[in-house]
Amino acid sequence: MKRGYIVSGTDAAWGVAVVATTAKEAKKISVAAGEFLDDEWINIKSHWERDVDVNGLHIGVLRDLRKGLFRGFYNYIESKCDNCGVESQVEAYNNKALCFDCMEKEYENVR
Ligand SMILES: [Zn+2]
Repeated sequence: MKRGYIVSGTDAAWGVAVVATTAKEAKKISVAAGEFLDDEWINIKSHWERDVDVNGLHIGVLRDLRKGLFRGFYNYIESKCDNCGVESQVEAYNNKALCFDCMEKEYENVR
């Protein structure tokens, strides 16, 4: 069964989104894709992200960060806000990638 993994190396703050069937396969795929050239195999960790929607995604590295955000690999990414266009940390909200300020505004509109 396909699953979503976040594979990270020595820089544990950042991970690569990988679709694979096991954690080990996710590691192999990301190393083969050249994501961890300077890292030792032992330093590379593969974590199953249980809430990821892998429907229709192929086995392999998912390099599209927005897709990674909307599929649930990432809680946030560095990108342009869909509302105000500011380059920021954005989160998925109502199928949009929003900065913190715009998300607050959307919350207030809902109330
Ligand atoms: Zn914004």
